[in-house]
Amino acid sequence: MKCVFSAPQHKHYPESFLVNGLRQENPEMPGRIDKLLEGATALELEMVTPPDYGLGPIARVHTPEYLEFLQNAYKHWQRIPGAAAEITPNIHPTHRDGVYPASVVAQAGYHMADASAPITGETWESALHSAWSAIHASELVLVGEKSAYALCRPPGHHAGADLAGGFCYLNNTAIAAQNLRRKYGSVAILDVDLHHGNGTQDIFYSRNDVLTVSLHADPIRFYPFFWGHASERGEASGLGYNLNFPLPRGTADDGFLAALDKAITRINAFSPEVLVIALGLDAFEGDPFAGLAVTTEGYGRIGKTIAERIPGPTVIIQEGGYLCDELGQNLANFLKGFEAGATK
Ligand code: ZN
Repeated sequence: MKCVFSAPQHKHYPESFLVNGLRQENPEMPGRIDKLLEGATALELEMVTPPDYGLGPIARVHTPEYLEFLQNAYKHWQRIPGAAAEITPNIHPTHRDGVYPASVVAQAGYHMADASAPITGETWESALHSAWSAIHASELVLVGEKSAYALCRPPGHHAGADLAGGFCYLNNTAIAAQNLRRKYGSVAILDVDLHHGNGTQDIFYSRNDVLTVSLHADPIRFYPFFWGHASERGEASGLGYNLNFPLPRGTADDGFLAALDKAITRINAFSPEVLVIALGLDAFEGDPFAGLAVTTEGYGRIGKTIAERIPGPTVIIQEGGYLCDELGQNLANFLKGFEAGATK
């Protein structure tokens, strides 16, 4: 399996993160990449750099005004006398059907769901390269590779078509899935991140060609709070094509694998031609977010189970997973398990 990664993904380094009203260090930091690279290197994956894909495949998921905002907001923000070094929103529309504002302060509130995805001078470049990594992994599968892994950072699954949030700007998983639709008639997305993939769900919510399935800590008391509940099943022709598995806090390997078994049964009933895994590693028992309790060994079982039971072509997109000693090993175990399951 190849590992797709681009060095400019290191550049984005947001400082702030609001927790219970307090400004704290943002856990989505570049050091995550080094840990994940350790895991990929331990498996001796072949490293590949993505080419410049421009905006084409990204614009099939995100709106023109949002892409314009992400590219240019920082430049406008810097013209505000005394503005902070990074953009965080301080006003949000209560409804999104009003006039689209000209002020960058108001645009920030319009396009940023929360205060955990600040925009710095390097954010756009890193997000763009992260999306290109996802696109390239999908291209490898489109030309016949059985599977490919994209080491995406910043992550993407909380980003909506015109909304940043939860450390995410461009929805790498959705961009890869949409790109795969060029060849494949049906795509399933399986999101195993600790947090619900609300952006991905929202992007495909009324479609029946992309099945979205997410396992995550129960959002009733956990980010992203408003989405990820079992009652959200899709709408219009997408009704029945979205499935959420909210798990009790502290769920460990056996509970996670039991839910995964049900998720896979639904995916196989859909008979997807290709699978995209949104691989967050923050359901780990030692992750700083401390939501679920999957073990390092458990990641091997999860990878193996998915590959054994969904044997088709697969694109694996890195989502969350925060700094802890085992982060690289968790990635290595997942991918090793996946490859063992795939060769059975
Ligand atoms: Zn997460």
